[in-house]
Amino acid sequence: MAELKTVAIFGGTFDPVHNGHVQSALELKQILQLDELRLLPCHIPPHRQSPGASSEHRLNMVQLALAGSDLTVDDRELRRQRPSYSVETLELLRQELGEYVSLSWVMGVDAFAQLDSWHHWQDLLTLAHIIVMARPGEVLPTLGPIAQLKAQYQTEQADTLRQQAAGAIYCIELTQYPVSATEIRSGLAQRQWRDSDLPAGVLHYIQQHQLYADNEKP
Ligand code: ATP
Repeated sequence: MAELKTVAIFGGTFDPVHNGHVQSALELKQILQLDELRLLPCHIPPHRQSPGASSEHRLNMVQLALAGSDLTVDDRELRRQRPSYSVETLELLRQELGEYVSLSWVMGVDAFAQLDSWHHWQDLLTLAHIIVMARPGEVLPTLGPIAQLKAQYQTEQADTLRQQAAGAIYCIELTQYPVSATEIRSGLAQRQWRDSDLPAGVLHYIQQHQLYADNEKP
């Protein structure tokens, strides 16, 4: 069977982007031999509170984090002046890439478990595959609409991602990088951080622009 070019999109608020994101993305690209993996920062995420740093800062930080790697950034959602729905972004990507490219949307188990709250979530698999990055020990839903979706579309064969353009759910367990942007933001507000959690260029940028600093705290 002919192999398709594989493009994967890793969406997030990246507020800020951290080494959990970058290392997982690099590992995923390498294991699945993806042709392209793009980090796509959301403009106004419909499902969560507004992020702490501006769109411009979040984009600059993603660019710094990916410098010198073979990962790329897709800034289309930040260029739009209204909430971004993933399904609309995927429609645009599908128009650009055409029918004969494999397109995947990458997400963590936390995001996958809430997929049924996404706008037009039933259409996602007509446009793309879903790659779920699980951390060791993380459990996927076993009941409800997401469990049903998984039962219907899950494949154990990574090859499906290059043989079909869309329509499969593939779960992959990656090395655990126990860090979250929430922890980083609250650490930075107290002037505490672990150098290993952030790419050096991102940490430098945060300090230079005094992002996430909580001036109320001593
Ligand atoms: P926050 O703490 O603000 O919710 P976050 O660190 O979870 O942020 P997001 O930008 O919301 O980052 O995450 C984008 C995607 O990255 C999500 O699908 C999430 O599951 C995944 N992700 C977040 N942290 C990690 C990590 N340490 N390792 C792997 N994936 C991660």
